[in-house]
Amino acid sequence: MKNTEFHFDTIMVHGGYVPDPDGGASTPSLVQSNAFAYETAEALSDVFAGRQPGYVYSRIANPTVAQFEQRVKLLENGIGAVACSSGMAAISSTVLALAGAGDEIVAGNSLFGGTFSLFKQTLSRYGINVRFVEATAPEAFREAINDRTRMVYIETIGNPKLDVPDLAKISEITRETGVVLAVDNTVASPMLCRPGEFGADIVIHSTSKFISGHGNAIGGIIIDTGSFNWSSSRYPHLSELYKKARNLTFIAYLRNRIVRDFGCSQQPFNAFLMSMGMETLALRMERHCFNTLTLAEYLAGHPKIIEVTYPGLWWHPQRAIAEHQFSGKFGALLTLKLEDQASCFKFINGLKLIHNLVNLGDTRTLAVHPASTICRDMDVMERLAMGVTDDIVRLAVGIEHANDLIADIGQSLSKV
Ligand SMILES: *Cc1c(COP(=O)(O)O)cnc(C)c1O
Repeated sequence: MKNTEFHFDTIMVHGGYVPDPDGGASTPSLVQSNAFAYETAEALSDVFAGRQPGYVYSRIANPTVAQFEQRVKLLENGIGAVACSSGMAAISSTVLALAGAGDEIVAGNSLFGGTFSLFKQTLSRYGINVRFVEATAPEAFREAINDRTRMVYIETIGNPKLDVPDLAKISEITRETGVVLAVDNTVASPMLCRPGEFGADIVIHSTSKFISGHGNAIGGIIIDTGSFNWSSSRYPHLSELYKKARNLTFIAYLRNRIVRDFGCSQQPFNAFLMSMGMETLALRMERHCFNTLTLAEYLAGHPKIIEVTYPGLWWHPQRAIAEHQFSGKFGALLTLKLEDQASCFKFINGLKLIHNLVNLGDTRTLAVHPASTICRDMDVMERLAMGVTDDIVRLAVGIEHANDLIADIGQSLSKV
């Protein structure tokens, strides 16, 4: 199934799935097996040598995981995808596939906390230096790129700052300089944005969030959109493989070198849950985005709220970019500003329906105080760059009825 034939909503239900020839099961089957048997020694040897396709061991590839990869690949209009054990595994695997000791990464300064910690604290031990630049200032990326740069890294919607980098402008710069542009599209989801359409070379998801959708499985995925020429002299470690794998060089290197050697493969059961979850992605995103805009407008008019940040509000600084990149939707995260940290805690503690929890992209609405939780490791300046102050609460809005959410928020705010 080519994804130009149908709308995304349809691809989410039917894409990448062929009914099981052995019994015709209507949903993808869960193949919970470590290894795969072959009739003859020659047959297994052929698969190992790459002369025949086939599964050998589930750390490298598994039919349930492969089906999940195929489905997400179609959604992002990619040429190949590799699923990993978590979103962080997808991000670190991408780094390891592109950069080594002495290399550099240029990253937007408004990043998911785990990614920031990897980039800021961990990678330096392995000799990889990360330069952070203002994510909404495209020219800052050009200034930071040099001969050692191996990747430019941004998020479609910064979390929890909720800023929206201009993908087309940044990709123009990475194209001109010959550097790979990797985009973490977790917060927008493929329903709002396909970064490949704006020039991204690599798209990454934490599939633990909207793609899975129910907060019941951890996973990540990396998609190659097919726009980068992997014969580039900037990536000499890929040149030998390029002779054989051509446009699939990056995907082959990721799967057969990075994921195989570091062992951060996706589990079949999690891939199965995510495959089920993503069939309703289009429906869920409609409700997520509707609810979030409804809450943002309600909160903006509430006397106890000092400020609401949501890309869908007309005064958000990147409202126009968001509208263009996300086809008129604005995502399911918002932040609200209260008097101080004590008011934020009081507000969270007073919520009855909304859970106090660090996840996002769940069916349930979740509230968290970023400064004391997900952004705790950062110093004050770093937090400021990410839009995190002591007086904000982040809401990851779910798919409940909007009026019930408004009632819960209203009753809690009345006691702040
Ligand atoms: C959650 C998240 C990650 C990390 O994903 P895990 O599956 O938790 O490892 C990366 N990026 C963004 C934007 C996220 O929200």
